[in-house]
Amino acid sequence: MSKRLSVAIIGAGMGGLATAAALRRVGIDVMVYEQAEKFTRLGAGIQIGCNAMQVLRGLGLEERMRAEAFYPRSWNNKDAYTGEVRFDMIFGETAERKFGAPYLLAHRGDLHAALHSAVLDEFIRRGHKLAGFSQGDGGVELRFANGATVHADAVVAADGVHSLVKDQLFGRSEPNFTGRIAYRTTFSAALLGGQEIDQCTKWWGKDRHIVIYYVKPDRSEVYFVTSQPEPGFRLESWSTKGDIHALREAFADFHPQVRHVLQSCPEVHKWALVDRDPLPRWSEGNITLLGDACHPMTPYMAQGAAMAIEDAAVLSRCLQGIDRDGVAEAFQRFEATRKPRTSKVQLTSRTNTWLRDPQDSDWVYAYDAWNAPLAEAAVA
Ligand code: FAD
Repeated sequence: MSKRLSVAIIGAGMGGLATAAALRRVGIDVMVYEQAEKFTRLGAGIQIGCNAMQVLRGLGLEERMRAEAFYPRSWNNKDAYTGEVRFDMIFGETAERKFGAPYLLAHRGDLHAALHSAVLDEFIRRGHKLAGFSQGDGGVELRFANGATVHADAVVAADGVHSLVKDQLFGRSEPNFTGRIAYRTTFSAALLGGQEIDQCTKWWGKDRHIVIYYVKPDRSEVYFVTSQPEPGFRLESWSTKGDIHALREAFADFHPQVRHVLQSCPEVHKWALVDRDPLPRWSEGNITLLGDACHPMTPYMAQGAAMAIEDAAVLSRCLQGIDRDGVAEAFQRFEATRKPRTSKVQLTSRTNTWLRDPQDSDWVYAYDAWNAPLAEAAVA
């Protein structure tokens, strides 16, 4: 009997965990290496598009996410000052019927925990920061900062926008700093003092916006994320706090509902927004990038994690039944299948016009990563 393919996955973010779960589903041996010592439930929400939910359903996580997340009737788009509706993108049961899966609004920590549950702890090594690697005929040698070395037939680098693997394979390059920042946080809806707020609304101002939505089915937790200019700020760190007074000031002319949410919120995190142009290549031999490592984008379509989750399903289809000698071609096939779509989403997201006005959204939400046609392997 031939030996099972062994794949080392770098990074236990949404992309890395989804990949581990999808590869295990097709009988591939995986081990995930994550630099962090532990996972923490950091304060942010995440929109899980119908296209990402298709993948989560295949990973057996649909019921869990329905129980953990909020099920909105729509993603509403309103003028920030008058509250006038520009475009109410209906989700709920209508979209579920049309796109084949629900649109959910979750706490990031709940989505991460669900993906973690699909992988199991025994397949995750925490406290393993990748420091270097080399590739030969027999596979890939990985070296970690803690002194450990590991051999695998293939490597999937889901190590995020500052990917060390990308830098070592294709050269170091800074992401594009957009000159804009996001304030974001989750907080108890009890702090709203009983005032009703919209289920999910993006409030469009002149040079800034804010998206506010519930992240629990019982509406007990609220999340918001902003985007506004601040060209000098370049930190992307979960530990960086923002000044809540400066935030309230920045949205002082917004609709009273927005001002009430910001007045009720106790603290915020502040995050520099970055993206990249589509990369010329994602893979080299038996090593491929995945998720933000190869297609980081602005959050304006709420599709960054969704793209990483879709990647996971498509990669598992490309690797199914493949031995070590077939991995390089399978990775090229993965890239050829995924790049046109992820590049289109990256470039569309950058314009920050998604759902502002009526438009076709089927190409994003109706995509089924388990059944979409696979491309031929591109010539490297
Ligand atoms: P990451 O989540 O960055 O994970 C990378 C992992 O690799 C981390 O755990 C890191 O510790 C680990 N790592 C890094 N280097 C090493 C190393 N050398 N060795 C070992 N481990 C390493 N997407 C959506 O779909 N919906 C949304 O609503 C949404 N909202 C967003 C709002 C904001 C403000 C932002 C900034 C992003 C948003 N996104 C959203 C995008 C989404 O967060 C990202 O696209 C997604 O997290 C990418 O997942 P990833 O696994 O590729 O990378």
